[in-house]
Amino acid sequence: MNSRIVYGPLLSRRLGRSLGVDAIKNIGSKKNCNYDCIYCQLGHVESKLKSPEDVKEAVTPEEVSESFQKFNKDIENLDYVTFSGTCEPSLNLSLGEMIQGVKKISRVPVCVITNSSLVGREDVRKNLAQADLVVATLVSGNENTWRRIHRPAPDISLQEIIEGLRELAKAGVGKRLALEVMFLESETGEPLNSTDEEVEKLVQTIRYICPDEIEVLTVSRPPAEKWVKPVSEERLREIVKRFVSEFGDEKVRLVLKGKNKRGKVLHRDPEEEVYALLLRRPCTFEQTWQGLSMGPICLSPVLKKLLGEGKIEKIDSETGEYYRAK
Ligand code: SF4
Repeated sequence: MNSRIVYGPLLSRRLGRSLGVDAIKNIGSKKNCNYDCIYCQLGHVESKLKSPEDVKEAVTPEEVSESFQKFNKDIENLDYVTFSGTCEPSLNLSLGEMIQGVKKISRVPVCVITNSSLVGREDVRKNLAQADLVVATLVSGNENTWRRIHRPAPDISLQEIIEGLRELAKAGVGKRLALEVMFLESETGEPLNSTDEEVEKLVQTIRYICPDEIEVLTVSRPPAEKWVKPVSEERLREIVKRFVSEFGDEKVRLVLKGKNKRGKVLHRDPEEEVYALLLRRPCTFEQTWQGLSMGPICLSPVLKKLLGEGKIEKIDSETGEYYRAK
């Protein structure tokens, strides 16, 4: 099935209602990344990319502008245009040019969600600086914990990432740099990065980076490794309290639930729209119709058809029943 560069809109816990942009074509691979995170909602990476120079199916700025122009006018009430999708967007070295292209068409703020792996590179930092908001992952200040959670490609080091994030913050990237800290534990209850020692190391590392915002969250969609479990809300609140005592409550945000904003979407090809969304983000029935503003009665036959054709599958997780592209 043809997958679009621009997909959604989707509702997210952090960004409200956003239209997604995939910066790398997902031909032949469901995921284009230089990490293989244990919590990834897209499953396992088939072949880990080592660097931007490894990317064979990069989307061009012209393709993004053309696709964005086409779908943007069908959609109302967007909070963000978000570069994310089935890939690590900073692997595309034309990212900055793509963001500029989107900004020529729309006044909706642009966000890039990055795994932070390449922020040690100056060219990548320059690209990220074109966005209004950069949400960058930081799961630990300890190299071993960081490796265990992300399983990165060779030659990526946590120390370079920390230095790169500090440079981004110093340069006043776009308007805001938010660090996303995802806390996890295993099915046996073993905390992976939420022990007191890990939290203190994070406090020290975040103090050094000096971001504008810190987002605390835990896994909510089915992870790549079934043994990965969410951290309890009680523990998340304790961690937030510690972060607030260090950085102030205007900087720290506990991300628990999605916003319920609705807006009109003109549906030209509902089947393709639903598939394009589920390829990038597994969703429950409710999340799918709310995100796409489709209405449950319209969505049911579309899901039934995609399931019947074997294009999507249903997966059960602790947080509900999800639909995901196969
Ligand atoms: S969670 Fe993001 S960074 Fe990690 S493997 Fe998946 S796509 Fe890559």
